[in-house]
Order: sequence, then structure tokens, then C-alpha cells
Amino acid sequence: MSSIKPLIAGNWKMNGLRADMDEFAAMAQGFSSELASKADAMICPPFTLIAALANHPDRGALAVGAQDCHPAASGAHTGDISAAMIADCGATAIIVGHSERRHDHDEGDALVAEKAQAVWEAGLTAIICVGETEAERRGGTTLSVIEQQLAGSVPLGATSRNTIIAYEPVWAIGTGLTPGTDDVAEVHGFVRSFLEGRFSEEGTAMRLLYGGSVKPGNASELMLVPDVNGALVGGASLKATDFLGILRAVS
Ligand code: PEP
Repeated sequence: MSSIKPLIAGNWKMNGLRADMDEFAAMAQGFSSELASKADAMICPPFTLIAALANHPDRGALAVGAQDCHPAASGAHTGDISAAMIADCGATAIIVGHSERRHDHDEGDALVAEKAQAVWEAGLTAIICVGETEAERRGGTTLSVIEQQLAGSVPLGATSRNTIIAYEPVWAIGTGLTPGTDDVAEVHGFVRSFLEGRFSEEGTAMRLLYGGSVKPGNASELMLVPDVNGALVGGASLKATDFLGILRAVS
């Protein structure tokens, strides 16, 4: 059994208005000290809600993160948000390299690495996402794709405190499909070996999240896979009952 405390991180994507702060409050209230002793939990809302959620009177131990940032700390980048601004709002982590950013905005590994560096410079933790497409899985190139993404997206200064890796097969995100536990074990074992090869004991201690259609009903099975230290959850993080159901399944 791993000594790494699991993290369940919710990614609200482009969902959430001020009215949804009640849902966040329900999550925070349900995240009891008993649950919090067994797993950490975080919600990554859209930028517009970060300050309100991070400063919510009921937040308790439920951390708040962000979904992306610009690689620069400040400057002439109309419409962008820096990691320092996100830190200023009270968030503690930022997701970078999510497949929806990689595909919708053409973000490549080098940019993801620059963003991770910016996250660290703001004193926050980078949740760096990697994952293969359906065509890559079918073509048998999953591990080489993951290796390339890790090599290009995780800067050399990564430690177990400033970095979390999320393995998210693109074809499993929002589809209700999940890989078999053997497939998850194969990729997570590969990611662990890569990180240990590059960062030695820091790689051993780094959290590895699985993401892609995690629900209360499949969370315990997925979280029992070796080298899975939690989950990055999209759809099921929007409702307190689902999010807390996942936390209970893991704890
Ligand atoms: C995600 O967007 O990171 C994700 C895993 O989504 P879902 O849980 O909805 O598949």
C-alpha cells in the first residue's frame, strides 16, 4: 500500500456560475475531517470563481485550484491570466497541459513545460496532464506518446511538492469509457519508472492521478491500482453527491 496520500481534484472546466457556489459549499461541508484524514480534495473552477471559492467561509480543507495559466508572470497578453494572479486569488495549484488545452488551443509540450515553470515561480503546484488519443492507443504507441509528453512537459525542477502528474487517456475523458485496470497499471507503472529515472526519490514520492470518466461507482477499483494516487475528475466533480461519493470510495 502506497504511503502517498491520495488527492481527488475536480476540474469544473467551463462550468460554474455564482449560483454554483452552493454546490461547492455542500462539497466542503461533506468533506469531513474523517475523509480529509484519508485523502486531500481540490476543486478547480473557472477563473471567475477562484477568489470566491478560495475565500468561501465554508471552504474548510477543500483546496481550490485553476485550470490553466499564461507562462509569463505579467505583461501585454490581453485576456490571459498569470499564475501569480491565480495565487493572489488564493488557489494552490494549476492544471497545465489538459488535453482540451492541447487540442483546442494547440498547446504543445514546450509550452506546457513553460507553464509548469510559471506555476512553480508563483509558489503553486503544477498538475501536469498527459494522455494518449484513441488512435494512438489503437496504434500501440501509448507508452511512447506518454514518454514524449513527460520528457517535453515536465521541467527538470520537478519535485513531489511542486508537481503532480495526471494520466488522462483522451478517449476516456467525458465519454464514460475507462481503460481496464491492467492498462491503467501499465501506464502508471511506466510513468513512475520515468519519474524515478529522472527525479530519483522525488519521482518515487510524486502523486500520479488517473483521470477519465471517474465516477463514484468505479473510483475504488481504479484507486486500488498500483501507482494511482488519486483522480482528476471532470463531470463527476460538478455535483457534491458525486464528488463526495468518489472521496468516500477512495478513503
Ligand atoms: C477531465 O476533464 O480532466 C476529466 C477527467 O473529465 P471526466 O471525468 O468528465 O472524464
